Amino acid sequence: MFFDRAKVEEFRRRVVEWYEAYGNRDLPWRKTRDGWAVLVAVSMLRQTTVKQVAKVYGEFLRRYPSPHSLLKASEDEVRELIRPLGMEHRRARQIVELARVLVQRFGGRVPCSREVLKELPGVGDYIASEVLLRVCGQVEPLLDRNMVRVVERVFGVRSARSNPYRDPVVQSLARSLVPEDPELAEKFSFGVFDLARKVCTARKPKCSTCPVRDICSYSARSGGSPLPRAPSLEPYMR
Ligand code: SF4
Repeated sequence: MFFDRAKVEEFRRRVVEWYEAYGNRDLPWRKTRDGWAVLVAVSMLRQTTVKQVAKVYGEFLRRYPSPHSLLKASEDEVRELIRPLGMEHRRARQIVELARVLVQRFGGRVPCSREVLKELPGVGDYIASEVLLRVCGQVEPLLDRNMVRVVERVFGVRSARSNPYRDPVVQSLARSLVPEDPELAEKFSFGVFDLARKVCTARKPKCSTCPVRDICSYSARSGGSPLPRAPSLEPYMR
């Protein structure tokens, strides 16, 4: 499927600029490219909030800086540490199992192959994509519900599928959006994530203060006040 190239490039540019100015760039797991540290973060971030993960992530890596070090700990100890995340029994079991497989099959290193990554406990398509992008330097779209929502709204596509992550149209659009440079692709992906959480929320998106509102199909359809080309980003300063 063909998408307007100029719009794609404008969207990318604005998301990256917005992220550089107002994104959550200080989150500790966004500053590392270490395979274990990235895997730990994306595993923890499932079904919990950024705030909860921030409470345990640093201490977890201080105690267990590698899969080898985690294998020396008891599951009880791990469970106690990650309790703030919720579902600590299942999470502790899974992360210990993840460490065990990494050590036994890969000598503690994180593999750079989607197929192999998906054989690891708890690793699906999204986590594999994030590891490939951030650890292995392979450009992959991080297609989660946040990215799906923003992309559908901005480009006026609507997946007919109950699972839009597997929709070839959404996948194709998401892939065409990601910049070719891995570092830029990472900023863009984090930018879409932050934009979805802070501005393009599932209910009541804050279109009047959105940096892409004048190129957004959803915003154009829902009308509203005239949309200047250089929107103020003040509301996101903190
Ligand atoms: S203009 Fe509105 S719908 Fe479009 S991306 Fe921004 S917040 Fe979302």
